Amino acid sequence: MQETIDLIAHRELRNLRRYTRDTGQPTSLDQLDLEPMTMVQNIEVDEEHITIKYNEKIERYYNSNTHTHREWVYKYNDDPEMVLAIRAVIELARKHLTDLPENVACPPGCAECCGGYEPFVNKADVQRIADHFGWTYDEVMKEYIVPRESADGFNVGYLRKVTEKIEDKCVFLKGNGSGHFYCGIYKARPHDCGAFTPIGCDDVDADLPKRGKYVVGDPFKPKRRPKR
Ligand code: SF4
Ligand code: SF4
Repeated sequence: MQETIDLIAHRELRNLRRYTRDTGQPTSLDQLDLEPMTMVQNIEVDEEHITIKYNEKIERYYNSNTHTHREWVYKYNDDPEMVLAIRAVIELARKHLTDLPENVACPPGCAECCGGYEPFVNKADVQRIADHFGWTYDEVMKEYIVPRESADGFNVGYLRKVTEKIEDKCVFLKGNGSGHFYCGIYKARPHDCGAFTPIGCDDVDADLPKRGKYVVGDPFKPKRRPKR
């Protein structure tokens, strides 16, 4: 199980309280951000501060994404014991920075995000899917894209679902259940899909094992070519 760095609440609070009394930093629990630090994105150390950026979350909306993150900034001084306390914090954060690729891997076969979201497609995405099927651009638009141009004209629509319901699964999703899902057009999938990361993902099927043997089946094959 992933260890969390609940660093202030558990390990370092007493040290930091003791050694930073004069720095003006908040050291009481109700002033400190105690959200467990589960994913570390960045550590910066300068002459005065250590800054740890963590728990990044991406909220996805129709035409934009909102990125939020937590930040832990602590001023340090030359006291050798303070330096030791800070070093412990850095080591914990580095450990999780090293863990990051494993922490952010999606459980194989999850694909919860392939339903409920509408991956937007731009012209290059549509053309790539068309080349993948040996179809024309217009045929892919007609069969698999719900047209909806973004305000800047960059996106031309979003991928169809298996039904008209927006919350249904993507028309290209294959597999017969959670843990067995896979993208049927993986190499040609839209940029939106490739850029989707599990960092901060609230949709993950937490019952799935994080590792394991995962077999991908046949790729998606269109049943028919649209009439011209
Ligand atoms: S963990 Fe999140 S991002 Fe990854 S496949 Fe599952 S729902 Fe999608
Ligand atoms: S194209 Fe593939 S990755 Fe993208 S939503 Fe559909 S099934 Fe998921």
